[in-house]
Parts: sequence; structure tokens; C-alpha cells
Amino acid sequence: MIIDTHCHIQDFGNRVGEVWARSVTSGVTCGIVVGTSRKDCVAARQVARSLVGLHFAGGLHPVDAARFRDEWADIAAMCVTEECVAVGETGLDFFKGPDVATQVNSLEAQLEFAAKLGKPVILHVRGSGRNVASIRKVHETLFSVLRQHRGVTCVFHCFSGTVAEARLAVDMGHYLSFAGTLTFGEITGRMLSEAAAFAPPDRIMVETDAPYLRPVGCPSKRNEPAFIRLTLTSLATARGWTLDQTAFNTTANAMRALRLTAEAEPST
Ligand SMILES: [Zn+2]
Repeated sequence: MIIDTHCHIQDFGNRVGEVWARSVTSGVTCGIVVGTSRKDCVAARQVARSLVGLHFAGGLHPVDAARFRDEWADIAAMCVTEECVAVGETGLDFFKGPDVATQVNSLEAQLEFAAKLGKPVILHVRGSGRNVASIRKVHETLFSVLRQHRGVTCVFHCFSGTVAEARLAVDMGHYLSFAGTLTFGEITGRMLSEAAAFAPPDRIMVETDAPYLRPVGCPSKRNEPAFIRLTLTSLATARGWTLDQTAFNTTANAMRALRLTAEAEPST
């Protein structure tokens, strides 16, 4: 079994059934459908309810943090039940998000809420640019917030830092989820390969962020959970593991971090 720890396949609309069927056929039999706003959480939860192997996570995205007052109470109500495995995605986005204070307020509220529920948090972290300085800046702000919320375990969705950020995250007890960006050549792919090679074997997982973030070699215009193998292959190369080892370890880590139970998965 392979777990796609982060996808938005509710965005496929009425094609979501066939997309998930292709995923299951390819061995990706478990996934987290992530909602990012009130409306999107309703859609994500609906998909998770209707398709076996999918679980719901709900939060307010940092880009929409200005809508916190309007939307959070309704999103929180969707997160309290057992069907919600994690709060998020929340986080910081210095590229598209509103002012930092607005984003931090929304993030802190979601961290506190998750701590009360005893659920993990899915983090979106994006700098204002792709250079190391902007990556460092957004992570510095994030880590100063996380230091105030020690009791929460976070998953860094689409981890986009250097070895230094990876080290800080894992030292605080968090997990790194690698996405299609790991397959990119040039600077991004190299930076992430180094972080992927550095990370402890029990703290890494994989995701697609489907239908977004097409990995290199993606055979379709829109990314799908079935294409997670491209990222798994890059992770295997970075770590010197076999593909089977990589799948086994990332699945075990995802189950531990997101507290998924084997019984909840379809037998394949
Ligand atoms: Zn996402």
C-alpha cells in the first residue's frame, strides 16, 4: 500500500471516481483529501466519505487567512469528528498570502485547536521567492510560531526547505512530506534531494498535491495520486533505497503521523 498524504482530488469534480480508481489500481490505495476553505472542506469531506481509502483533513489555507473570522467556526466543526484525521492545510504563504500578522493569527488558532483535539497539523510553507533567503525567512517565522506550540505534531506538506530547515523541523518532532518538486532538476530538485537524503528514515512521506504540482514525467495534464511513483522514485534515488523500501517506510510513517489504522484501508 502506498499513501498519498496530500491531495485535492475533490477538484476533479465528477471525474473523481475514475481518478481514484486509477490510483487504487496503481497501488496508491490510501490518501488524504485536504480542504482549504469552508466550501472546499465540504467538498473534500464528501469525497472522503464516498470513496474507500480516502480520509479528510480540513483547515483554512494561509492565502485565505483574511477569511478566518467568517469561515473558521464552520471549518472547526468539520474537524472535530473522527472522520477528520488532521487540521490543515494552514501555514504561511509569503508569496500570495495577506499580511504576516493575519496569517500568524489564523495559523496559531488552528495549532491551538489541533492541540486540543490531539490531531496533527498539515502545514503549507511558501516563501516570497525561490531563493534560499526567502525560504529561510518564511521558515524562521514559522519556527518561531511552532516553538510556542510544542504539543502539536506537524506535517510539512510539499516540503520546500534546505537541509537546515529539514533539521529544525525534525528536531521539533515534525514530519516532511515530499511532493513532485523533488523530481525537478536544477536548483530546486537538488536542494530537496539533499534534504530528503538528510531526513531521518522515520520522518519522511510522499504526496502528490494532485491535481497540482505535476512531477517530471507526469503523463497527464493534471497530476493524479497514481503518479506518486515518480516522486517515490526520486526519493528512493536520493536515499539509496529500493522503491519497495521507500514505499514501505513512507507508508509506515504516514500511518503513524496521521494515526491511520490498517483496518480502515481496503484490502488489496
Ligand atoms: Zn495542498
